[in-house]
Amino acid sequence: MRLVILGGGESGVGTAILGKKLGYDVFLSDFGKIKNNYKEILLINKIEWEEEKHTPELLFNADIVMKSPGIPDKSPIVVQLKEKGISVLSEIELASRFTKAVTIGITGSNGKTTTTLLTHHLLKSGGLNVGIAGNIGKSFAWQVAEDKYDSYVLELSSFQLDGIIDYRPHIAVVTNLSPDHLDRYNYEYQNYIDAKFRITMNQTEEDYLIYDADDEAINKWLEKNTVKAQLIPFSLTKKLEKGAYLENNTIITNINNEKFVMPTDNLALEGKHNVKNAMAATTVAQLMRIRKATIRESLSDFQGVEHRLEKVLKIQNVQYINDSKATNVNATFYALDSMNTPTVWIVGGVDKGNDYTELMALVREKVKAIVCLGVDNHKIIDAFANVVDVVVEVAAMDEAVKVAQKLAEKGDTVLLSPACASFDLFESYEDRGRQFKLAVQNL
Ligand code: ADP
Repeated sequence: MRLVILGGGESGVGTAILGKKLGYDVFLSDFGKIKNNYKEILLINKIEWEEEKHTPELLFNADIVMKSPGIPDKSPIVVQLKEKGISVLSEIELASRFTKAVTIGITGSNGKTTTTLLTHHLLKSGGLNVGIAGNIGKSFAWQVAEDKYDSYVLELSSFQLDGIIDYRPHIAVVTNLSPDHLDRYNYEYQNYIDAKFRITMNQTEEDYLIYDADDEAINKWLEKNTVKAQLIPFSLTKKLEKGAYLENNTIITNINNEKFVMPTDNLALEGKHNVKNAMAATTVAQLMRIRKATIRESLSDFQGVEHRLEKVLKIQNVQYINDSKATNVNATFYALDSMNTPTVWIVGGVDKGNDYTELMALVREKVKAIVCLGVDNHKIIDAFANVVDVVVEVAAMDEAVKVAQKLAEKGDTVLLSPACASFDLFESYEDRGRQFKLAVQNL
């Protein structure tokens, strides 16, 4: 069997290792450059590869192709392979065929990473031999090759789900939906929604689909489509017979006639969105039969996730918060919503077709000053100039932080929550977040 792998990143290299272990004839091809550390791993494992090109003769004799999630379906090489009748799979599809481990698949537009890490923390604290993979850390295929875990919590992007055929998570979570990555979906929001729901397409009556019952797009999809899995909703706004809901600032879940109760004040993570993430994670933990005392303890000692409403420092009684991962308006909505003190808001970057209307009321209520940092400032200025008294433009992160410090008074918060992509001034959202933290430390 010849396994051809497109893309020499984490997914590709992990799949190559799995393929080699299974005795396949493995070849990896990357149209760009492969990082040196990955090249070393390929060499050690005697895996053949090419970079900065795709050589047709080396690819078209494949029995199976694994396409890394970053490569669009429309790219010429993928189109050609499919035309030849060769099946092109995602890493998740391929790796799941070679493990008996139970998987919990978590998708959605925002909250995937947080919910995945929190769920993993709950299950691990409950004594399960559980791994974490997908868009986080070491690739799923690589870990399947190492065969260390009985179960996995997988963070699944729509791109990972596009390439599944039979993959069937025992528990699926859809955190929420809002338009994102539409360039990969012919600019049709519906296509993106349908891609996310592929997570449930192979589930049976023995499986579960956990979802946000306050989300209009999710509800609409569920009305129109048949799902075999048992549905478990969670909601911040309505009392539910089954699933998780909020009453008097307390999370209440009812799973398989087992009740669980936890005041939101005891959650380690702040913000309404994190109440939802906690509901989803708790529901998974209950389905996996984790003891309630363990769930409660783990929800309150979770360390949080870097760049997601991460508290950096308090300086002269001003709290600095890094929410660099807020690369869209919806994520920033929840960040602003969770602010309890007057806020100096650092915002901006590469606009993704943002509509700021959704933020208007929150900005009016919570934001005392705006610091714009990025290429698309004019749109932010147009949107908020009449809503907030002080709107300042800056050119670099250290300047943004210094200006924010001047504008903040004792008891205020300085929040970096850009609502935009980071590629104008930074390498990634991580780089943006780290530069923010460094600038705060230098104050
Ligand atoms: P993802 O992996 O889906 O991008 P993250 O957990 O990394 O999600 O969070 C991305 C951003 O969205 C962060 O700014 C975070 O504060 C915010 N966020 C987290 N959970 C939710 C949620 N359930 N709904 C909306 N925004 C959220």
